Amino acid sequence: MYDLCIIGSGPAGVIVALEYQKLKPGHRILLIEYGTATAAPRNCLDDSVKVIETKNHHLPYDCTNKGFGGSSASWGGRCVMYDEIDFKPRKILNGQCTWNTSLFHEVRRFAGPAAEYFECGEARFDLEEIPALAGTRIAEGFQSGDVRDSVIERWSMPTRFGNRYRAQIEESQTIHLLAGWEASSFRVQSKGGAIRDVQLKDFSRTMTAKVTARQVVLSAGAQETTRLLLKNKQVFQRRGGPPLALGKYYQGHVSGKIASICFSGNPARTEHGFLRASDGVYLRRRFQLSTGALLENNLLNTALWLDNPLYANPAHHNGPMSLMYLAMITPVLGKRLAPPAIAHAFTKGHDWGIMPHIKNVLKDLPGSLTTPAAIFYSRYCLKRKLPGVFLHNPQNVYALHFHAEQVPVAENCMELAEDGETLNIHYHVSDQDIDSVIRTHEFLDQWLRKCKCGELKFWHPREELSAAIRSTTIDGLHQVGTTRIASNAADGVVDENLKVWGTPNLYVCSSSVFPTSGQANPTFLLGVFATRLARHLASDDSN
Ligand SMILES: Cc1cc2nc3c(=O)[nH]c(=O)nc-3n(C[C@H](O)[C@H](O)[C@H](O)COP(=O)(O)OP(=O)(O)OC[C@H]3O[C@@H](n4cnc5c(N)ncnc54)[C@H](O)[C@@H]3O)c2cc1C
Repeated sequence: MYDLCIIGSGPAGVIVALEYQKLKPGHRILLIEYGTATAAPRNCLDDSVKVIETKNHHLPYDCTNKGFGGSSASWGGRCVMYDEIDFKPRKILNGQCTWNTSLFHEVRRFAGPAAEYFECGEARFDLEEIPALAGTRIAEGFQSGDVRDSVIERWSMPTRFGNRYRAQIEESQTIHLLAGWEASSFRVQSKGGAIRDVQLKDFSRTMTAKVTARQVVLSAGAQETTRLLLKNKQVFQRRGGPPLALGKYYQGHVSGKIASICFSGNPARTEHGFLRASDGVYLRRRFQLSTGALLENNLLNTALWLDNPLYANPAHHNGPMSLMYLAMITPVLGKRLAPPAIAHAFTKGHDWGIMPHIKNVLKDLPGSLTTPAAIFYSRYCLKRKLPGVFLHNPQNVYALHFHAEQVPVAENCMELAEDGETLNIHYHVSDQDIDSVIRTHEFLDQWLRKCKCGELKFWHPREELSAAIRSTTIDGLHQVGTTRIASNAADGVVDENLKVWGTPNLYVCSSSVFPTSGQANPTFLLGVFATRLARHLASDDSN
């Protein structure tokens, strides 16, 4: 009998466990993790996820990791805060924004403690809030207004939650980590609808067990949390069946590159790479449209940042980039350098062949070797790792990377197949999503021209932009929407305290509770919610 049972030990589960332990030192916590210490080449969970349309969605094994620490074993570590507008009902969201701005202001109070878990410094996400950097601009002539350049992403170590917090959990007298076991079903009390016990299967599904707990948190990652609820309809008996929203409104981000940004000022004054905070944390600017501009133009929230041209296209004539591209496409080496979903960012694009790349490497010697060697050292050998590689361009021209919100639509969903076990994932990018990306670029172009700071040069004629976005965008790493928060049981799956509507002791702590995807990668906000949930559980002793 535990006070708290947490299912899944990714960032969400680990933060809930450690925060709750601080608040309730005498309470017993069970942290159940499906994966084992030695990474198995295959597992039953990923083998029974089917991505129906694979064009814009990674395959199951590339989307998540199983094992203590969850997908933080391969995450990039980019920490971004959601914006107030993400919590605001907007015309473009077609009535599907089921949370509200008072919740945003309330949860924001937990950003500081969450940032400590991610080791990403202070929870300040705007350079205007950092005195030493306030008032600085991304490029000569840029003016902040309808487009802002002061919003930042912070970079984690990247913190691998398994390695970083293992000792703390193992030394704890009250947290019991049970690895190699899968939570598979729940028994529900007929009176009151409380979860009575959690039924478990071992990794090879040959043994079963059950545990009892006063409160249960599902933090098994978005897809497995959604599957557990879809498989266990009995938890919704008190409300007369599963919520309509369960499994629906699945979103990620539309991302890629369709244009270059050409600045007209002094190239030496363009801030193309990382800033460092006084504590050594890497920061990076993002362009974002102001709330007013987004609302007035009916646009989805989108972040844009300076990037390198496509690595695969040797027309960049850059020896170090060509060498890194060649390393990434080398079968065994490429896999060791980055997980497949991240390696894709280096290798995507047409195949222009390797000979032009070899020529680039030879032309730029010895820089073709020394620059990648220095990058390799900073990215792989230091404790706080260089999060990415952004090369200075003397012509003051940079590729522009966009990362955009999607409209929540019911057709993008996770649902159980007829066998009652397989999770089918339907994911596509809508015309509205794409139209918003193109119009956001056009808005930025006009803004740059107005400031006389530069302009955008699109890589394709306007009528071909849509196809270009559709053929390169891919997600499945940021999983949002399928167990969404709503202020009433009819519109969502969980309430604002993350309690599953209709149950007295079952909670969800996953990015699947976010009704909108915003411009932000989801894990930082998930950590914020996890910190807040621990406080709520500790104060809710009514069960
Ligand atoms: C390559 C890659 C790069 C990424 N980069 C970023 C980034 O830069 N920034 C960002 O914000 N996000 C990023 N993400 C997303 C980020 O990793 C996830 O948002 C985050 O890990 C989600 O945390 P979680 O705790 O909800 O789930 P997970 O980390 O997925 O952990 C869930 C855990 O639950 C376990 N589990 C599942 N089912 C069961 C069950 N039935 N019983 C018991 N245990 C179970 C799993 O084994 C797993 O260990 C990236 C993801 C990937 C794959």
